[in-house]
Amino acid sequence: MFIPSFIRIKSKGKISIFGVVPRIVKLNDRIQYLQVSYEPLSADVVAVRGDSAWWIFDVGACDEAAQFINELPRILVDNSANLAKNVVISHFHRDHLLNVQRMCSDEISLDIDALYVGAYTSKTFGEIEGVAKNVVMEPLSFDDGVHIEILPIPNSHAKGSLALVVGDYVFLGDATYPMVGHGSPDVYNVQILGEQIKFLKSLTPTHFCLSHKRGLVRDKTSVIQFLESVYARRQKNENYIVA
Ligand SMILES: [Zn+2]
Repeated sequence: MFIPSFIRIKSKGKISIFGVVPRIVKLNDRIQYLQVSYEPLSADVVAVRGDSAWWIFDVGACDEAAQFINELPRILVDNSANLAKNVVISHFHRDHLLNVQRMCSDEISLDIDALYVGAYTSKTFGEIEGVAKNVVMEPLSFDDGVHIEILPIPNSHAKGSLALVVGDYVFLGDATYPMVGHGSPDVYNVQILGEQIKFLKSLTPTHFCLSHKRGLVRDKTSVIQFLESVYARRQKNENYIVA
């Protein structure tokens, strides 16, 4: 979970932005996403149309997110293939994956075929009948009309986070955010932040997409510059940097 600071400061108690219905935004002719929403907090859900499958990044926590996934068409007019639905979960926080847990408890149905998750995310739900669960420990890549990669990413926010590369875009979930302090300050781990900056620099996509941000898409340079400005504040013998 990562709640932008402008919301945390303004709201005491329950987070609420009334009247905001999540919108579907198209990034290009293959990539669309359902925007973040706040009642309950539900992360952006990305849907990428490959030639043989939908690649879905995060499933959110709200009914609209489940509906968005369920309504992705398996048969397209210009393509006779029956598209599978492959889901990548960025990390184990509930605003990114609750709908998988709701599916496990039969609260909702979720029309998906395969899950790609980190080891920590994997522990938050059991086996699901009819859904192949893949625990990702090493980078995976697929050519599905568009180049796809699923990458474990060093990060302070949530152990075992995954990023999804789609052509010139990379979806990073909350991985560039600090560890949430829950009352204590939010912090970055110095060593991991250094590794993350190196990792992000090595990526070829130039569009960096961060969950919970209005507009989602940032450019690679500005994200790395921001993280380097945080890293520059590290102190000798301190393992953490306050965000
Ligand atoms: Zn999170």
